[in-house]
Amino acid sequence: MITKITEFFRNLPTKQCHECGKEIEEQHECYGNSCNECLNVVDL
Ligand SMILES: [Zn+2]
Repeated sequence: MITKITEFFRNLPTKQCHECGKEIEEQHECYGNSCNECLNVVDL
């Protein structure tokens, strides 16, 4: 049921970056558990 699916995603907790804890937008989920800022971090 479409309604149930919508409620399911709505009830999901906000995804947070595994590195800094910053909220991650849905569109970034394909990158894993890190936000763009952390993903762009280069080891110095
Ligand atoms: Zn981050």
